[in-house]
Amino acid sequence: MSLPAEFLSRFEQLCPPHRHAEALASFQHPKVVSFRLNRLHPDASSVIPALRAAGLTPEPVPWAQNQGVMAWQCPPAQRDALTHGAWANDGRLYIQSLSSMLAPILLAPTADEWVLDLAAAPGGKTILMAEMMGNAGKISAVEPVHGRFHRLKANLERMGISNTRCYLKDGREIGRLKPDSFQRVMLDAPCSSESRFRSDEPDSTEHWSLRKVTECARKQERLILSAFDALAPGGHLLYCTCSYAPEENERVVAHLLKKRDAAEVLPMPDWLHQLSNITAGLTSWQDKPLPEACTHTVRVWPTAEMDGFYLALVRKRGP
Ligand code: SAM
Repeated sequence: MSLPAEFLSRFEQLCPPHRHAEALASFQHPKVVSFRLNRLHPDASSVIPALRAAGLTPEPVPWAQNQGVMAWQCPPAQRDALTHGAWANDGRLYIQSLSSMLAPILLAPTADEWVLDLAAAPGGKTILMAEMMGNAGKISAVEPVHGRFHRLKANLERMGISNTRCYLKDGREIGRLKPDSFQRVMLDAPCSSESRFRSDEPDSTEHWSLRKVTECARKQERLILSAFDALAPGGHLLYCTCSYAPEENERVVAHLLKKRDAAEVLPMPDWLHQLSNITAGLTSWQDKPLPEACTHTVRVWPTAEMDGFYLALVRKRGP
């Protein structure tokens, strides 16, 4: 397998033995393609019959549908047909990994809230949150990279999102500019993207190194403090990455707990732990202990259907 040797050695230490074979196989094969129907679109119910009429074989994803997200999946070979069909271009469906859908589901924004999405482009999680809020309430979506900012705006427009305002800004500034303001904050942090690695795509790993992991961690530590400072007392922050590196995950949560007394890690709901590829966050890494509260965070191990992911739900103590 042509993945970086250093990455593989760390992955072997991190991945529980019972998830190992399936996780390694997932780096070698194209993933099942998942998508969700846009409940804000008046004609979303036409999609599944249209896909079937075109010879595609969508199957529902029960755990996501039980949480109110109309998630479906098709075999990997149907990706192009799904991506290039009218159904994707006219905003009736959005192609999104199942792991990505988890973050908005767990943050659970509601229609009367002001929500911050601190690292928003290309907008998959913003769009799902807007949908969960019925396009009501208010979302502020922050993205500092010009090209990605414009893609975010185009995606929001295509999906009919009207409760979101986009800001071309560095997320590290927001906690200072808007302290104690938002009921929910999403921080889907820029990361080393280890879960996107494919053994047959050298491009997917070419930017990876331990130094890159450390650089990402440094930025994530500043972003999580900014995200937490922007949170209203009593509000919830969802921190997530698509990296396996503890430096970008549990250690970033540990940094927040050390720097902010009001931060409290919340347990995840029972239904999440019923998925077979979920394990609790680490309590130590390379012989250094991590806070016990990290066991409330979760690691999603990759399968043929799901990407690897890390998720932590944090509350700001207060009223
Ligand atoms: N949440 C997005 C979605 O679901 O479609 C994906 C977000 S992606 C993992 C991380 C994003 O953070 C990238 O678009 C990247 O450009 C942006 N980013 C990088 N540095 C940032 C910073 N200092 N503040 C805010 N966002 C940043």
